[in-house]
Order: sequence, then structure tokens, then C-alpha cells
Amino acid sequence: MADLKDRIEGLRKTFEAEAFKAGDAKSLEELRTTFLGRKKGHVTLLFEDLKAVPVEDKREAGRLVNAFKTFVQDGLAAVEGRVEETARVSDKATASRLDLTLPGRKIYVGAPHPLVLFQQEIENIFLGMGFAIEEGPEIETDYYNFEALNFPPHHPARDSWDTLYIKDDLLLRTHTSPVQIRVMEKKKPPIRIIIPGRVFRRETPDPTHLPMFMQIEGLVVDRGATFAHLKGTLEYFIRALFGEKIKVRFRPSFFPFTEPSAEVDIECIVCGGKDESCRVCGGTGWKEILGSGMVNPQVLKNVNIDPEEYSGWAFGLGIDRTAMFAYGITEMRHFYENDLRFLRQFGAK
Ligand SMILES: [Zn+2]
Repeated sequence: MADLKDRIEGLRKTFEAEAFKAGDAKSLEELRTTFLGRKKGHVTLLFEDLKAVPVEDKREAGRLVNAFKTFVQDGLAAVEGRVEETARVSDKATASRLDLTLPGRKIYVGAPHPLVLFQQEIENIFLGMGFAIEEGPEIETDYYNFEALNFPPHHPARDSWDTLYIKDDLLLRTHTSPVQIRVMEKKKPPIRIIIPGRVFRRETPDPTHLPMFMQIEGLVVDRGATFAHLKGTLEYFIRALFGEKIKVRFRPSFFPFTEPSAEVDIECIVCGGKDESCRVCGGTGWKEILGSGMVNPQVLKNVNIDPEEYSGWAFGLGIDRTAMFAYGITEMRHFYENDLRFLRQFGAK
């Protein structure tokens, strides 16, 4: 019995020393085999030897061997827990290790909105031709938005410029044209300006209409300003924006504040006029992008500019709609939904 006790005590020390050293799954498995292996494991051999123990000592010897077996099993479980924890921590450490050779992660700091970029492109073309930029209020009086621009009350053209009213006499401007009146009231010709800004209409939203959109318009008032200047300037602008080879045509139209008036079409850059089912031009091969005309003499009289001495011309275009056409976008709402996947396609890096 003393022999057995000494043997178990020796094995206990060996196990403790080995268990202390075991640091990974492989050494754990070796330790398990050494002690619990089916053929030559120390514990297995102890059970074999129990057969030779005299009957009177069997009970006590069996208790000692079983206790040692439990001690080994508990010890192995503890080592296993420690090995797993070590592996988990080292995985984490590997994942978070800084690799200085990797390219840096870019921080997104934002960028101008695509409509702002497009507006700036238009502005730059006109600034290059000597135009100045003017701006005005988005809430206007009926006088500036309509009456001074030759839309008397009950004029039928007011129907297509219906808007939201703040009070009877205060409304959200339907176009940037009231700024023409505000500028002409203050400055004497020569006047050569462009007016960008937000405008409002009573519209049901659809792919090409929204109750709020962006416009830019231009005004020239000077002695001897003619339709030829208007035509030459707009043709230069359109070629600067869409390329030298773009085809342009002027088509008679009506606006209360210009006479004569013309709408300006450019050839459809989406289908080139070759697709009868083109959604952009409706198969006509032309896309209207501008309204224009000679300033109605009555409008000049309204701001005390003598139409006998001066003449003027004006034009206007929708920034959103022209940008849609230029970029091939079929939904105007994309501009206002703030979807970064959309916005990042335009200059935002
Ligand atoms: Zn087309």
C-alpha cells in the first residue's frame, strides 16, 4: 500500500508539473494520453495493478486510484479551459494588430452636392462672358413674382405658375425672375447678370417634377441689345456645357415677360434622335432645356427703364432638369433623397 501511495504521489507531482507547462492543444492532448491513454496511460496501468493488490487492501487501493483519476480529469479540464482562453486572446491580438504597410483608410469628409457642382459649372461659363451673379429672396410679393413681370391678376399664364401662398400677397417665388425686377430697380443699364436659386411650384411629384427645384436665369439690358446677342450667347453656353458638336434649335414660344419668346432645344444626347422609344426626348430627338426672349417693353417701363433707349433679353433654365439630362438621371428625386450611393458618384470622394 505504501508503494502504491508513493507511486500515486510521484505521478501527481509529474502531472502537476506537466499541466503547468502545457500551453496549447497539442501538449494538452499529449498530457491526456500520458495519463489516461487506454493502453499505457499511468492511470490505466494503476487500475491494472490493482488486480495484484491483496484482498484486504483492495478497497483502500481502489479509492486512492479513483481519487487520482478524478484529480487528473479535473486537472486536464482546467488546462483545456486555459488553452482555449489563450487561443481566443491571441486571435484577437492578431486581428487588431496594426499593419503599417496597408494603405490608410480614407475618412469621408463630404463634398458639394451634385446640383451645386452643376450650378457652379453653369455659373463659371457665364462669369467667363462677363456676367455677374445676383440673388434674391425665396419668399416674394405678388408684385415682384407676377405683376411687375407682366402677369396681371387673372392672367391665364398664372395657372401654370401656381405656388404656395404665405399670405394673400406673400408667396414662395415660382421663378428667379423677380430678382430681375429687384436688380433693374436699383441699377441702371448696362446690366448683365445671372440669377441662380431655389423656386417653388404647386406640382405633384413625379420623375421630372417636384414642388421645389433649382433655376438659373440671365438678363442683359443695354443699348442695342438684340435677339442675335441672345442667340449667340446661348449657343456659346450650350456648346461650353454639352460640347462643340451639339445641335441647337430655337422654337417660338410664349412668356408674359418676353416678346418675342423662344424655347431652346438641344439634340437628345441620350439617343441622338435615333431611338423612337427614348424616354428622355420621347423619340423626337430634341430636348427643351431653356426658355428665352426679348424683355417685354412693359417690364422695362415697370422699372423706369426707357424701352425706346434700352432693350434687353433674358433666359432661364432648370438646373435639376438640365443636370438630369447631362448625367442621364431618370428620377429628379434622387437629388433630394440624400442617398450617399447616389451622391458619391459626383465628385465626392
Ligand atoms: Zn432621345
